Amino acid sequence: MKILIVEDEPKTGEYLRQGLTEAGLVADLARDGWDGLQLARGGGYDLVILDVMLPGLDGWGVLRELRAGGVDVPVLFLTARDQIDDRVKGLELGADDYLVKPFAFAELLARARTLLRRGRTTVEPTLLTAADLELDLLRRRARRAGRAIDLTAKEFALLELFLRRQGEVLPRGLIASLVWDMNFDSDTNVIDVAVRRLRAKVDDDFQPRLIRTVRGMGYVLEVPA
Ligand code: CA
Repeated sequence: MKILIVEDEPKTGEYLRQGLTEAGLVADLARDGWDGLQLARGGGYDLVILDVMLPGLDGWGVLRELRAGGVDVPVLFLTARDQIDDRVKGLELGADDYLVKPFAFAELLARARTLLRRGRTTVEPTLLTAADLELDLLRRRARRAGRAIDLTAKEFALLELFLRRQGEVLPRGLIASLVWDMNFDSDTNVIDVAVRRLRAKVDDDFQPRLIRTVRGMGYVLEVPA
């Protein structure tokens, strides 16, 4: 288990690094935001402990850059007692937990261990569902109300996209680029035809209807409230 500490105060940083090492973990220390970002991106870390107040790029910048770059390593951020708003901001930016300075090392270690455990058990779901519709990504099978549904490869990809982005209105252009890997040409009705075929298979004989047209916007799959 490898941990990256991003902390500019030398005493605190060294104290954390030493404590984590004594607890049997491998810990690296970065002293500013840019170094921290570079190391975190390099990968291999199971957890990043991130101070918010850093010279150069601050902790928010580091977190934002990491998440924007698709790096989903768990992040525990360290904030000051008088910065209550930080907690909300940090969690909104995609941090996993926070600690308010000053904190007891035992508390930090307990939080770190929880995040490390969680990180290891995170697995990509292989079964996507909405109401009684199921898409089994491993076996490449679709079922609705227990009945097998035969889908073409494109229909499967389209349904997978709808299920992954449930409740989100997907414009035709986005569907075209993600499922057909092409630019959307508004003269073609390839998307509409494909959605109609998919609906005929997964919606027409069932209740409730899951795939809806949003006029002028695109399509959405959602379970009606
Ligand atoms: Ca600091």
